[in-house]
Amino acid sequence: MAEVAYCMKCKKKTDMKETQEVTMKNGRKALKGKCTVCGTGMYKILGK
Ligand SMILES: [Zn+2]
Repeated sequence: MAEVAYCMKCKKKTDMKETQEVTMKNGRKALKGKCTVCGTGMYKILGK
């Protein structure tokens, strides 16, 4: 499943691979994955 998220390193939105749903310390859910372009770890906060 390809998700699009903002990559801090590429400074643009890229496809995210190896996505995995995680719950952050504040209880909010996020998707964690890697940028398909540079491999940097990235997060996408899931909506309200
Ligand atoms: Zn990137």
